[in-house]
Amino acid sequence: MARYTGADCRLCRREGSKLFLKGDRCYTEKCAMERRPYPAGEAGHKRIKESEYRTQLREKQKTKRIYGLLEKQFHHYYEIANRQQGITGENLLRILESRLDNVVYRLGFAKSRDEARQQVRHGHIHVNGRRVDIPSFRVREGDVISVAPKAKDMLVIKTALISSERIEVPGWLEVDIEKLQGSVLALPTREQITTDVNEQLIVELYSK
Ligand code: SF4
Repeated sequence: MARYTGADCRLCRREGSKLFLKGDRCYTEKCAMERRPYPAGEAGHKRIKESEYRTQLREKQKTKRIYGLLEKQFHHYYEIANRQQGITGENLLRILESRLDNVVYRLGFAKSRDEARQQVRHGHIHVNGRRVDIPSFRVREGDVISVAPKAKDMLVIKTALISSERIEVPGWLEVDIEKLQGSVLALPTREQITTDVNEQLIVELYSK
């Protein structure tokens, strides 16, 4: 599947906020947003005229980037969310959170969603005891996500677990570090989704 392959930090600088795309580095003073919290290039210093459209667009772009998605797939999720019962923005966030790559990251088995995506693609992740190598696979209540037996000793996973001590596992998930296994207690409520986004702005943008 197509994905953004440019510099991650550039995306944070473009959005003017930390998107936590690079794992450990994001929590250190090496983070580009700590030193240069403005867009890269000459235009970054220029004053940009705010507008309602621009605010909505930037929120959508930020959310897409946090979850590592391109426009086509992100918009597809919006359409699904819009057809579901309930509040469209919350539905959208719930769909994004239930992606397998996000769940692997939230459980602390990877330092970033990008790394989690790699682990899934390489077949290191099982769902209910069966290998699932599709990062966009959506987990459901009761699913058990585990690290494949062959991957349990991988350095990248051990390092991720150490790093993840600073990240709180959300209440809708439960993790057993010893077994390298987690389960979905329920799909998240809006209050349980800690991603710093205003989903209503995205809905307003797509509703135009
Ligand atoms: Fe963003 Fe992380 Fe890079 Fe900082 S280090 S700019 S939070 S990707």
